[in-house]
Amino acid sequence: MSTLEIKDLHVHVETKEGIKPILKGATLTVHSGETHAIMGPNGSGKSTLAYTLAGHPKYVVDSGEALLDGKDILKMTPDERAKAGLFLAMQYPVEIPGVSMTNFLRTAKTEIDGEAPGIRQWAKDLSAAMKRLKMDPKFASRSVNEGFSGGEKKKSEILQLLMLKPKLALLDETDSGLDVDAVKTVASGIKAYHNADNALIIITHNAKILEGLQVDYVHVLDDARIVRTGDGSLVNEIIEEGFTALKEDEAK
Ligand code: ADP
Ligand code: MG
Repeated sequence: MSTLEIKDLHVHVETKEGIKPILKGATLTVHSGETHAIMGPNGSGKSTLAYTLAGHPKYVVDSGEALLDGKDILKMTPDERAKAGLFLAMQYPVEIPGVSMTNFLRTAKTEIDGEAPGIRQWAKDLSAAMKRLKMDPKFASRSVNEGFSGGEKKKSEILQLLMLKPKLALLDETDSGLDVDAVKTVASGIKAYHNADNALIIITHNAKILEGLQVDYVHVLDDARIVRTGDGSLVNEIIEEGFTALKEDEAK
């Protein structure tokens, strides 16, 4: 059983024009077994929250805490955070020329677990995960994300999720740019990963990726703050009515 507690997180970045605050007090608690969706207009701070938790050096924490099982992850290096069980599927996955997918996945798994996975089982699991994601086995020997299409990059993030089996997975718009069939494939990968021992935080604008998952909480991020939290029914309300209508409701 794991718990992530994000408490009153304030974050800024340095820009040419000076300091820009981009999170102004985000508070959120996630337990294993749960699925949380984070929705919000473009530029509201969703990726910032994900990057800050993963340890991107550009995002400076001014105050607040992020505790994973009581340990302050904000004091950890990004690799320590990964070892503690955190995983981020990036909105814009990076290419790593010269590092094959298989080497990357196996090295990451070995680092996280402190020992190399048994080779036979690993090969079997990798092949099954790629099959589930409808990825050509040839991708295993290609460099990480190099020359992958947008959709293939997103699938490669979910392949990492399936192989690394983190305690807490943050998925940042993993569905954006995917065709309808690929969204279903990716959603089935996420469903296969999720169980009572891990937690999902899914940043999305789309209900399709949440299909088949029970969404326990939806958080609406707007202008750097979580302005509303509700149950899974909030997803469709937002998709049908939009964020502006939601704000008008709040103001009444
Ligand atoms: P979202 O993911 O919700 O669309 P982001 O978290 O990416 O939003 O960005 C929130 C705001 O912070 C945006 O206005 C964005 O331009 C700004 N921002 C994010 N990262 C940087 C950065 N590295 N430099 C300057 N501005 C940034
Ligand atoms: Mg974003």
